Amino acid sequence: MDKPTVQDGQVVSMEYTLHVDGQLIDSSQGRAPLEFLQGAGNIIPGLEDELYGMEVGETKNVIVSAEDGYGELDPDAFVDVPRAQFPTEIPLEIGVELQVRDDSGRVLLARIDRVDDESVRLDFNHPLAGKELDFTVKIVGLRDATDEEMEHGHVHGHDHAH
Ligand code: ZN
Repeated sequence: MDKPTVQDGQVVSMEYTLHVDGQLIDSSQGRAPLEFLQGAGNIIPGLEDELYGMEVGETKNVIVSAEDGYGELDPDAFVDVPRAQFPTEIPLEIGVELQVRDDSGRVLLARIDRVDDESVRLDFNHPLAGKELDFTVKIVGLRDATDEEMEHGHVHGHDHAH
């Protein structure tokens, strides 16, 4: 019998590390492996594409361009807001993260990008937009998805059924 490999309709269990600009920014170490349904867009496309054909126990380094990761920086996602519109308890310092409600009441996450005497520039880009992603992944488990998982397009864990 052929060894199972990563393909559409497989539930993949994967250990991973993610480095950006040489810094470790995310890892499954000390946690359960990441579980996802291959082919369902549960993980970023540039990583998902590179996993096809991998076997359990196999390790791979995958470099994902910004375009295939969290997207390029969107210049339209920078917005200048007058200082006076910020409540005084918010520290107006570069890098501070804020939750901002848009006109339709949606909550968006923004970071302070620049501050001057009159205005504050907010950056609504994903924090990893414009960044090359350096993953090291190890496949630690593979199984066929259930019919229900295929229908829902995601994995149902031990404590997650709906
Ligand atoms: Zn479901």
